[in-house]
Amino acid sequence: MASVTLSGINKWYGGVVHAVQDVSFKIEDGEFFGLLGPSGSGKTSVLRMLAGLERPSSGTIAFDGVSVERQTPQARNVAMVFEQNALYPHMTARQNISYPLKIRGLSKSEIDSKVGEVADMLNIRHLIDRRAAQMSGGQQQRVAIARALVRRPNLLCLDEPIAHLDTLLRARLRGELKRLQRSLGTTSVIVTHDPIEAMTMTDRIAVMRDGLMQQIGTADEIYNRPVNAFVAQFFGLHSMNVFEVTDIQEAPVLSGKCGGEAARLPDSVKPHLTGADRSLSIGARPAMISVFPKGEAPTGSDVLNISGRVYVAEQLGDSILVTVQAGDATIQAMTPPDRHFAIDQPVDLVVREEALYIFEGQGKATVRHGASQSGLAPTSLASAHA
Ligand code: ADP
Ligand code: MG
Repeated sequence: MASVTLSGINKWYGGVVHAVQDVSFKIEDGEFFGLLGPSGSGKTSVLRMLAGLERPSSGTIAFDGVSVERQTPQARNVAMVFEQNALYPHMTARQNISYPLKIRGLSKSEIDSKVGEVADMLNIRHLIDRRAAQMSGGQQQRVAIARALVRRPNLLCLDEPIAHLDTLLRARLRGELKRLQRSLGTTSVIVTHDPIEAMTMTDRIAVMRDGLMQQIGTADEIYNRPVNAFVAQFFGLHSMNVFEVTDIQEAPVLSGKCGGEAARLPDSVKPHLTGADRSLSIGARPAMISVFPKGEAPTGSDVLNISGRVYVAEQLGDSILVTVQAGDATIQAMTPPDRHFAIDQPVDLVVREEALYIFEGQGKATVRHGASQSGLAPTSLASAHA
């Protein structure tokens, strides 16, 4: 096990693609760390440099404070699992898992005991003598993880290891991987484009975009205090709504236009009206937005009101996701499952000012964070109405 420090890492491919731009972070000993971002954001490049499969164009990498840039993956004692596992298809699970121990010259009894132990951890003892080619995708991935863990690596690198599995299996493996990492205490890094995977499994997450680090923190920090609109929209099960409010007027009440439709703004946004055009980007999570039939919404100096029409309402079982078109802005709201909204129905949206995020115009940096969802009762407006 080791702590891992990256400082000022850059990666250029062929002198044209600047895939990783001045990235620095530290992974603590025993930590489960997530590298999250859309496709092409540079996650795999960072992981391959950590593992020793790729050399940084500049910057340093250290394990426990010792520079490893000139070390091979073997010397770093890094184990890797990729989306497409690289098992030997004609070999059994046992042969695949034993392989890294054999090349290290361990005795047969040592190998048997280590393979048995890791097979138990991953619930694959019953598959141990089956050929890899005769296993399901999920089983193969368990074997690949067992093979990575059997030699107790300093660092376990996982590159989208469960991304191609079906939803139920993915959810189960998420939990298993988290428990396994916790019980072994192996410093681990998982690359994923799925915020839910990163949120559910890891201790801390680094969010990347276009080769640039956006934010590093716990799931709770990133969810509740996103540094910019990109992170706010990318992170979470449902994207944060972010929309521009233009044509802001202060009299008779504070108002503006959202997607061209009239919007009543809470007084608390006043201090954030800057610049000549006095426009503003506002964010609100779907769960913090209430939907009312037109004309029935509460108004006041502490709420944002926007009118629109229902584009579609999707039943999710424990809630309904209502997509509302307000002029050319699209806004999503979660409502209790007992509401009914028809397509094209005129509605009013309400957000309490505590829940609002405010982003600066061009840089899109967050200038005001909403209150965390826990502790706020977004449905209180709705239930007052019900
Ligand atoms: P991610 O894993 O987040 O999808 P990658 O690290 O694979 O991102 O890629 C980051 C960028 O670098 C992308 O634009 C990708 O096309 C480019 N890239 C990755 N590997 C190579 C390579 N070997 N040669 C040239 N460009 C590459
Ligand atoms: Mg990748």
